[in-house]
Formats: sequence, structure tokens, C-alpha cells
Amino acid sequence: MIISLAADAPVSTSVALLAAATTLRKQARTMPDGRGGLLITVDGSLPDDLLHGPGVAAVHRSHKPYVLASLEHRARTVVTVGDVRIGGDRPVVMAGPCSIEGRESLLRTAHAVRAAGADILRGGAFKPRTSPYSFQGLGEEGLRYLAEAREQTGMPVITEVMEPEQVDLVAEYADIIQIGTRNMSNFPLLRRVGQLRKPVLLKRGMSARVDEWLMSAEYILSGGNLQVILCERGIRSFDPATRFTLDLTAVPLVKELTHLPVVVDPSHGTGLRSLVGAMAIAGIAAGADGIFVEAEPDPERATSDAAQTIDPEELYRIVQRGRLVAEALKATIPTQLTGGMREGTRELAAVGD
Ligand code: PEP
Ligand code: MN
Repeated sequence: MIISLAADAPVSTSVALLAAATTLRKQARTMPDGRGGLLITVDGSLPDDLLHGPGVAAVHRSHKPYVLASLEHRARTVVTVGDVRIGGDRPVVMAGPCSIEGRESLLRTAHAVRAAGADILRGGAFKPRTSPYSFQGLGEEGLRYLAEAREQTGMPVITEVMEPEQVDLVAEYADIIQIGTRNMSNFPLLRRVGQLRKPVLLKRGMSARVDEWLMSAEYILSGGNLQVILCERGIRSFDPATRFTLDLTAVPLVKELTHLPVVVDPSHGTGLRSLVGAMAIAGIAAGADGIFVEAEPDPERATSDAAQTIDPEELYRIVQRGRLVAEALKATIPTQLTGGMREGTRELAAVGD
């Protein structure tokens, strides 16, 4: 059950509803509705006579199972990091190396992607590698370089955390915590980052359905951390021509289902440098709130994911085109055109007759 409380509802109403839920041994949570009011979500339902307190604007008995992530009965979320707004009125660019490989290379990359138009610096310090023999990341040393890059460029930084035990350490350095595709269903990790009051970027599991992905977001939101960003990064398909299949249908679908911002990762989504630009732009055209891209000045030399890493020149072109596409999406389509189309349809129908 979701109970919508009006902006001017007295505190006593929410206190009474939450107390009733506790007495009836039902779990209840509160969440701002983004319009000044409050939502109370209750597992199960409360008796009717409790639902008429002052300020109760509406009671919704049927709703999505991802009750906090759902767009039902609330406004969209904008996640703010420094002066960057994710889910605001322009797509955000997060870019940087797959792995942090050293101080000089990270600082050089940070300045280069900044100059190309990036808003946020990405880079892995703890790397989830398929082989235990591959480079596993620099760990805390990498986090320190990331913090230095933030200081020098002014860009907020995002980096991945893989274990609940690492969360405090990573949160000390990162502005956004990244949960990778392999950990989308690591529920203890999700619960742990749900206790933070810091943005979390949740990648879609490579074999996860959209509803499973949103239930994972629910784990974070239900801990009280409401700053969740979704990231579509490609799913497994039958075709080995690309590393993964970037599921761009998920972008408008998720925008329909949730209030959370969504970004697209065309680097892991394709695995191929030559396709990253097209799919980044396609992601923006599909309505994404940003892109998450692997880029560095010398992509060929990257220790991990070199084949999908682009250079700053390509990033610059993507940023410029992306802005044009985002502007085009905002354009108002003149109504005469719609009228003209109706006329045309009538003419066509006449021809058909
Ligand atoms: C990454 O972005 O650094 C990463 C490891 O991506 P994914 O979890 O999508 O494989
Ligand atoms: Mn990578």
C-alpha cells in the first residue's frame, strides 16, 4: 500500500500511520514524493479507518513491487553531485579509464577528458576481472590518485566497490559509488550502500531483467539512500559480434517505470571502440540522462578494456553531437505539421477508397 500525504499534512498523521504499521507488525517506509508531499509505503495494508487522517491525499492499494523506485505517485529524481545534476535538463558525461593504472596516467586522462567536455571522472581502483590472474586494480592507491585528479580538475569522481567491507573506504574517496554488473544481485553489498547518504550508480546485471534491476535499486532505496542512478551497460545475447548487446529499449522503459535517472554505458555495451560513439548518441536519443564512457589519451595501451576505450578527440565529438541531439529532443514540434499530417492521412485514405 502507498499512502500519499499532502505537503501540508500534519506530522501527527505520518506518526500515527507509522505507529499503526509497527503495532500491526508491518514494515513501513517514508519517502518524499518530490512535490513537497510524503509517501508512506506499507508492506501489506492498514485498516481503512486509519486512512482518513488529516492530510491523507490518496491511498493506492495496487502498485509495482519496487514501490520506492517506481514513478507512481511521485516526481522524477535529480541526483546532484557537486554542481552536476544527473536527471536534470542536460545529459551528463562520465568518462575516464577502465582501470586506474598510475598517478601520471590518471591525471593526464582526467585533464584530457575534462577538456573534451566530461562532467565526472570514472576509473576503477578495485576491478572485477574475469580471470584472477588479470590486473585487479591498484586498490586504495588508485583511490588516492582519483582524489588528486578531482582536486586538480574540479570533477567529481565515480569508482566501483565490490565488497561490503570495502564500502567505507571507497566512500571516503568517491563522490559516486559504482555497483558493477556482476554485483547487481549482491544483496549484502546493496544493503550496505543503502546505508550511505551518497549517490550510487547501479549497473544492470548482464543477465538481469528490468524488473530484477529495479528490485535491486529497491534494496538501496529501502535503506534510506534515495540517490540512485541506473546504468544500462549491455546484456548477454546469442551474438558474439559485440561483447554485449546494449539494450537501449530499457532506457525509455525504465524512464516510464521509475523516477530514477538512467545513464548508458556504450563501452561495455559494445566492446568495440568504433561503435561507442554511435551507441552513446543513440542512448541520448533514447532519453538517457547521461553516458558513461571509457576514454583515455592512449587507448591502445590500456591494461584493461583497450578495445572499447576511445580517445579524447572521439569523446569531444560525442559530447558535441550529444548536446545537439539533446537539444533536438527538447524542440517543440509545430502543431501545423501535425495538422498537415492529418490532412495527408485523409488524402491517403481517399486514394485508398
Ligand atoms: C566498469 O564500468 O568499470 C565495469 C567493470 O563495468 P561492468 O560492471 O558493466 O562490467
Ligand atoms: Mn572496463
